[in-house]
Amino acid sequence: MKITQKQILSEGIAMGKVYLEQGHRYVFSEQTSVSREKSLFLKAVRQATEQIDDFLKISSEEDREYLTVQRLLIQDPVFMKKTLLKIEEGALATVGLSGVLDEYAQELKKSGNRYLQERFLDIEDAKERILNQFAQIDQPQMQGKVILVAEVLHPSFLIQHRKNIVGVITQKGGFTSHGAILCRQWNIPYILSPYSFPKEKFLIIDSSKREIYPDPSEELQKTYREILQGLSKEKFEAVSHDGYGFWANVSTNQELEKVMNYGFDGVGLYRTEMIFMNRQRPLTLEEQTEIYSKAVLRLKGKPICFRTFDIGDDKQLPYLKSSHKGIENYLNNPELFETQIQALITSNIYRNLKIMFPMIYRKEEFVSLKNWVLKIRNRMNDDTPIQIGMMLETKEALDHIEDFTEVDFISVGTNDLIEALYHIDREEQSQRMEKYWVDLWKHLRRVVEFCLKNDIECSVCGELASVLSVAKKFFQIGLKNLSVAAPMIRILNEAYREEVLKEV
Ligand code: PEP
Ligand code: MG
Repeated sequence: MKITQKQILSEGIAMGKVYLEQGHRYVFSEQTSVSREKSLFLKAVRQATEQIDDFLKISSEEDREYLTVQRLLIQDPVFMKKTLLKIEEGALATVGLSGVLDEYAQELKKSGNRYLQERFLDIEDAKERILNQFAQIDQPQMQGKVILVAEVLHPSFLIQHRKNIVGVITQKGGFTSHGAILCRQWNIPYILSPYSFPKEKFLIIDSSKREIYPDPSEELQKTYREILQGLSKEKFEAVSHDGYGFWANVSTNQELEKVMNYGFDGVGLYRTEMIFMNRQRPLTLEEQTEIYSKAVLRLKGKPICFRTFDIGDDKQLPYLKSSHKGIENYLNNPELFETQIQALITSNIYRNLKIMFPMIYRKEEFVSLKNWVLKIRNRMNDDTPIQIGMMLETKEALDHIEDFTEVDFISVGTNDLIEALYHIDREEQSQRMEKYWVDLWKHLRRVVEFCLKNDIECSVCGELASVLSVAKKFFQIGLKNLSVAAPMIRILNEAYREEVLKEV
């Protein structure tokens, strides 16, 4: 039997058993007991307290007050006692603790005191914090090579289980979602399918045929094993591409090996927020310096562009919830920003490191962030040249591109830009752009002209750069630097052969 699906978000072949992610919270074992629930509760409280202690070390004065209140609440002996009692009476740990904290919250709400009423939110937050620990405790173990089947793909989940996940099937998702971006970077096939498959079922997915095979025959398995062996030997290598830049998008240092082996010119976009994910606390200065320096050394002098952490929408951190990407993240979390910039400045070993700010709307935002970086560099007594540029991914910046004469480089982020211009969700961009291409080319031609006039390097790092027809069009309008996931080198090769070499 085979199931044919329409939408492929990342190409490739995978074989493995189904790992079913049933939403990432509250996955209960059917056979629970009072003692199991008690120990789950105590473990969750301990982990939540440790998490707060980690944040307390790095948080601002203001946050410290609120975190201390939350810590007291979580450790409150009455709260512990009441919850344990509820568990003894037969409640699940999560239900028991929610019940007790909801009672507290109701009492505060009823009080006429405004200060106490506001503490209601602290209780809600403490509750979330403890409940979140259960996801980590009760997630079924992932063993061996698996095909992840889920409703949606959470980037943090993929990062956490990267070693095990060889294929992904979800009900919802889109080409430009961050989960799909990571899958393409890591060569993990990803198909959209409305079907849910039972856990442990053996599957083969073959995205080139758009097919999923549940329970494949021995013979089919053998055929696919051979295909996979052949694929692992396939050579990816950049064709010679004079005057053009083939850049890579990465999210981890592990991908840099491919970047070098495939012959990329350097890294056009390092999504640094991804290395912050799946941790309960931010990375320290030393930890970040180690990661960035290793990346720089691994590139052996080829340029590397680090984007400052870009949190918001589908990318969230447990210690930094953000509804919007952009400068507010840095202004609201100055220590995090300063630590990252210091680590980047220290890692500027070959004097060609680039720092790029995401989601810039106005010239003033860029200038103030650039000055902030230069101030940090001064404070460090460092005068190594460093290039500071921006992503062009908002309508406001596009409309006023001529104002941005102070940038060293621009990288066009089509994923967010198209969402802003045409209100096409990043999930749907590859299907719904037909009506808008002409308008997009008009805008981008203006950007190219501005960059040429002001000697500013211009590239594209959005996902459309890895769609062959679009990559060719970028070359046509003078966008000669494209940044794509490493395995997409073949698209750049093809675009170059078909669009540039044809003219020779
Ligand atoms: C973009 O918006 O095009 C981009 C490259 O950034 P991200 O996909 O990480 O938002
Ligand atoms: Mg973006």
